[in-house]
Amino acid sequence: MRRLPIFFLLDVSESMAGDNLRQLQHGLERLVASLRTDPYALETVYLSIIAFAGKAKTLTPLVDVASFYPPRLPVGSGTALGAALSHLMAEIDQQVLKTTPERKGDWKPVVYLMTDGKPTDHLKDALYRWQKYYQHQASLVAIGVGEYADLNALAKLTPHVVHLNAQNEDDFKRFIDWVSQSVVAQSRSVSAQQNGVSLAKLDDSILSKLGDLSLAAKVDEDYVILSGVCQRSRLPYLIKYERLPMTLANGQFNVDFGRYHLVGVMPLERDYYELCDDSMATPTINTDLLVGAAGCPHCGHRYALAACGNCNNLLCIGGEGEAICPHCQYENDFVLSTGDGFDISRARG
Ligand SMILES: [Zn+2]
Ligand SMILES: [Zn+2]
Repeated sequence: MRRLPIFFLLDVSESMAGDNLRQLQHGLERLVASLRTDPYALETVYLSIIAFAGKAKTLTPLVDVASFYPPRLPVGSGTALGAALSHLMAEIDQQVLKTTPERKGDWKPVVYLMTDGKPTDHLKDALYRWQKYYQHQASLVAIGVGEYADLNALAKLTPHVVHLNAQNEDDFKRFIDWVSQSVVAQSRSVSAQQNGVSLAKLDDSILSKLGDLSLAAKVDEDYVILSGVCQRSRLPYLIKYERLPMTLANGQFNVDFGRYHLVGVMPLERDYYELCDDSMATPTINTDLLVGAAGCPHCGHRYALAACGNCNNLLCIGGEGEAICPHCQYENDFVLSTGDGFDISRARG
């Protein structure tokens, strides 16, 4: 039986952390449960999950639907689409069986790429190799998630770009159903010896084709994500702030104060570092623009926004006094102040 390889190339950068990633995690379970009920998919479909942030990592190498178990999705820093594409091409070389005179190889693989951001690395070299050597031996479906996804970058990779605008859990479930119907359709069409990629009908309340929308992704993000490390447990965490437009009381003016309000804190696992690219420059933000303080989600320390005086990275502290920075081991002596803001490092999304 010839295999139909399906690769999922999933953006797990910090901006995906929280609801998006949780829904995606459940989505993989829903997807595989649905594929197991289809005799064509059961016979031919092989799934692989690759996660990328600042770096890419294979979480599950190609495995048949019956033995597939959804991996836990990690979180990392950055959206290195170029690195992700390079990793994918290496995986296609290694895992996909080529047809030779002696044997029939795998069916043409289909790649589902999901991202919610803008590439943070140089896409050019990987893009050139993809266009020259790979785009004819694999079909790529690119899914831009939310209003900050860079659809222009995705359009360079493939003619199959869709935009997902899921407002809630139900929308996301319908999106997953669209993916599983598309995979099932693909397994039938290869069995019928048809070429090309088969996609299920778009549910236009949540999915739109690239041609139907303007290419302009929002450039200025309305949120800020900061990452820190717990002084006690040494585990990382994220703090998310969102910009809220504020209206003056008399309703005549719309004034955007440019400030960001606390949304929440998310604890992360140690594997956060595996998918971070340390070579990238880190953007900073002035603390004066941040409204609302967060505590440490790991140890309960009251302040998660203490910046090390030596390396400028964030750590959690319980209050004033000495604290060893978990990043650089510098011994800080913190004094609480309400004075001037200072610049702290932003995560790279
Ligand atoms: Zn802590
Ligand atoms: Zn430090």
